[in-house]
Amino acid sequence: MIVIMKPKSPLNEIMRLKQKIERENNVSVNVIQGKEYCVLGLIGDTTGVDAGKIRADEFVEDVKKVQQPYKLSNRMFHPDDTVVKVGENSIGGGRLAVIAGPCSVESEEQIVGIAKDVKRSGAKFLRGGAFKPRTSPYSFQGLKERGLELLKIARKETGLPIVTEIMSTDLIDKFVEDVDIIQVGARNMQNFDLLRQLGKTKKPILLKRGISATIEELLMSAEYIMSGGNENVILCERGIRTFETYTRNTLDLSAVPVIKKLSHLPVIVDPSHAAGIWWMVEPLAKAAVAVGADGLMIEVHNDPANAKCDGQQSIKPKVFQELMKDINRMEDAMSCRKYNALNV
Ligand code: PEP
Ligand code: MN
Repeated sequence: MIVIMKPKSPLNEIMRLKQKIERENNVSVNVIQGKEYCVLGLIGDTTGVDAGKIRADEFVEDVKKVQQPYKLSNRMFHPDDTVVKVGENSIGGGRLAVIAGPCSVESEEQIVGIAKDVKRSGAKFLRGGAFKPRTSPYSFQGLKERGLELLKIARKETGLPIVTEIMSTDLIDKFVEDVDIIQVGARNMQNFDLLRQLGKTKKPILLKRGISATIEELLMSAEYIMSGGNENVILCERGIRTFETYTRNTLDLSAVPVIKKLSHLPVIVDPSHAAGIWWMVEPLAKAAVAVGADGLMIEVHNDPANAKCDGQQSIKPKVFQELMKDINRMEDAMSCRKYNALNV
C-alpha cells in the first residue's frame, strides 16, 4: 500500500502520519520524497490497514493498494528513476552508461590494454570476470584473486570503475573492498543467500536476469537485496532461453520498457551474452538504446580468436569504437521518456 501526500505537505505532518501508521499497524513506513510527490510506502502485512481512515487525513491525496509482490523495487513506491552513483559516474536517470571489457581477465597486458581502448571510445566502466561461472568444470574458471588484482591495476591505470562477478558469499568482504560494482550473474539470480548478504552492503549490485526467469522473478530477486537495506541495484537483461537455437539466447528487449514501467531501478542490456555472436552485438546494442535502456554491457576483446572465454561473442576495440560513435549520435537524437506509476 502507498500513501500519496498532497503537494507541499509540511515535513512534520508527513512524519506525524508515518509514525501514526506505524503505531496503529504492524508495518514499517518508508518516506520517499520525489521531485513531484512525497509517497509513504507501507512494508509488511497491510491486510488490516484501514485505507479509508488514512485517506481522511487532510494531507493525504490518495491511498493505493500495491498488487505486486515486489515493493521496494516497485515504481509505485518510488515514482522517480533511481540513479545509482558509482564514484563520479552513475547509472540511470540520464546519460547512457556503457560497461565494456573482456569476458574474463586473462593477463595484465590484456586487461590494461582493453581498459585503455574502451575508455578512449567512451566506456564509463570496465568489466572483466575473475571468477567465472562455466557450464563445464573443465573450462577456464578465471584467474580468481589474481584476476581481481589485475582489475585493480587496470582501474589505477585508467580510472575506470570495475565491474566483476561474485559467485560465493565467502568473498563478499573482499569484493566490497576491491570492486566498484558487484555483478550477480544469471546463474546466481536466485541464490537467495548471496542476495540477502549483498543486501547488507552498500555496494552497487548489477543483477542479471536468469536464463529462465520472468521479469517478476528478477524484480523479486532485486527485492531480496533491497529489503536488506541496499537500494543500489541495477538490473540487466541478458537474453533468455527460448526454442530458437541460432542465437545463444533470445534478447528480450520488451523487458526494458516493462521493467521501466514496473520499477524505478535502472535497467541495462547485455547484447553479447544474448546473441552469442559478435556481429549481432552492434545492431542489438543500438536496439537496446532505442528501446530506452539506461546502459549497455558489452564484451570487448583485443584477440577474440584466442580469448579464454566467449571469444565468439566479443567485439574488437575498433568495432566498439564505431559502435560508440553511433550510440552517442542516437542518444543525442532521443528525448528522455518519463514513466510515472502514479498516473498510469
Ligand atoms: C558474464 O557477464 O560474464 C556472464 C557470465 O554473464 P551471464 O551471467 O549473463 O551469463
Ligand atoms: Mn562472457
